[in-house]
Amino acid sequence: MKILFASSEAVPFAKTGGLADVSGSLPRVLAEMGHEVFLILPKYRSIDEKRFPLTKTGITLKVPIALRVETAEVYSCESLPRLHSLFIRKDAYYDRDQLYGMPSGDFEDNAERFTFFSRALLEAALALDVNPAIIHCNDWQTGLAPVYLKTLYRNSSSLKPAASIFTVHNIGYQGLFWHYDLQLTNLGWELFTPQALEFYGKINFLKAGMVFADAVTTVSRKYMEEIQTPEFGKGLDGVLRDRKEDLYGILNGVDYDEWSPVKDPFIKERYSPAELKGKRTCKADLQREFGLELREEIPLIGMISRLDEQKGFDLIEAIMEKLMELGPQCVLLGTGKEKYHLLLENWQKKYPRQLGVKIAFNNVLAHKIEAGADMFLMPSRYEPCGLNQIYSLKYGTVPIVRATGGLDDTITDFTPQAAAGNGFKFRDYTASALLEAIQRALEAYRDRPLWENLMVRGMSADFSWERSAGEYLKAYQATIEKKKAKTADR
Ligand code: ADP
Repeated sequence: MKILFASSEAVPFAKTGGLADVSGSLPRVLAEMGHEVFLILPKYRSIDEKRFPLTKTGITLKVPIALRVETAEVYSCESLPRLHSLFIRKDAYYDRDQLYGMPSGDFEDNAERFTFFSRALLEAALALDVNPAIIHCNDWQTGLAPVYLKTLYRNSSSLKPAASIFTVHNIGYQGLFWHYDLQLTNLGWELFTPQALEFYGKINFLKAGMVFADAVTTVSRKYMEEIQTPEFGKGLDGVLRDRKEDLYGILNGVDYDEWSPVKDPFIKERYSPAELKGKRTCKADLQREFGLELREEIPLIGMISRLDEQKGFDLIEAIMEKLMELGPQCVLLGTGKEKYHLLLENWQKKYPRQLGVKIAFNNVLAHKIEAGADMFLMPSRYEPCGLNQIYSLKYGTVPIVRATGGLDDTITDFTPQAAAGNGFKFRDYTASALLEAIQRALEAYRDRPLWENLMVRGMSADFSWERSAGEYLKAYQATIEKKKAKTADR
């Protein structure tokens, strides 16, 4: 099958969050399974071209935007057989320090940058004669591509047969812009209705993808159910309920070539379920890195996160004093909203002996935290899939999570009597429920054999991509069939 996979970030080229992990792994696994995959991204400044040399294809695209026609160059990188990574070079839009904005706020021209990308990716498919059977778009940044396919490109002979799939990685990020930006898109005002692109007087790029794609997927079964309710749907639950027949919840896989203590190149000493000694070395290394006391017996709680309301920092704030009284060490790595930078820095000033904070995006340190911590904290308000809890399982770092979205699908609560479960889970989004879960974890930690048993159970779980990729292929196939049947009906 020929698959065009469009994303605004993908490992190893550019990353701000889980979308990049998925867009880095799924296309690769599909290519390994024998499919021909074209991964297409903007060419950002942050791409390390020394490690991943990009070559000019010689193709220049002409992309209409508002009343202008802008040009863009197409670059490529061939890393694996059947996986072709393509890059849209338009420096005025993508040659910046960050992908979407600064800590103080989003770039003001994001509507233009990603309208351009959504159209350029189709132009690139045409220019390169890709003839995809599937065009798989991801999140609001590519939300207009399914709209273009059904409107301005509906008569294009090589794109017409393609079925479009749209994956919602996080319904909290919708790409909402004022109505006047519709003129950038060259789409007609007849689409500015609640049935199409309009959302309470604004244009909603995520909704556009959800309405116009042939099928919609999201990244866990639980999240798929949640976002059909007003509590989690962020105003789009009705749109999803309308698309129930074409909706899939497919849990993300993880890439164990990158995230496994057996082969991780970034950690101090490697380890496995059969030989856990290396984890102690990694813990000491992490304590050193964060300037904490090198004490093996003190439980160490880790957290790696975008600093955002979604991730539950208000709950942590509410329990911080009590948590510190319980005596664990904590290390926090994150970047994001400025107000959380200040909050975390204040915590560190207040509890310098127990708490280590790094405000940074640092992949090596993320690996060291996964390996060195005893527990991993994710008290999210909502969590579409969540990857760090799955990485944590593999590293024997026991997750403490809120029962929402993918966290609920992947973590089962520990019951000491039955020696079952792989982590600690709480349901209500309250400070007391979080504190209770942490207390249970700290309690269990005191019983070393019990704890090691829990670690090893997590380490043996398998969330690799093959199973999820198989589910995507089924969804692709079903969508192609449905589309064919619909076309034949007409
Ligand atoms: P989200 O996509 O909501 O940010 P996920 O759990 O799905 O959350 O994915 C987050 C990914 O980003 C993980 O791979 C995590 O390790 C990584 N990550 C998040 N913040 C940082 C950071 N400050 N430094 C390094 N990696 C980070």
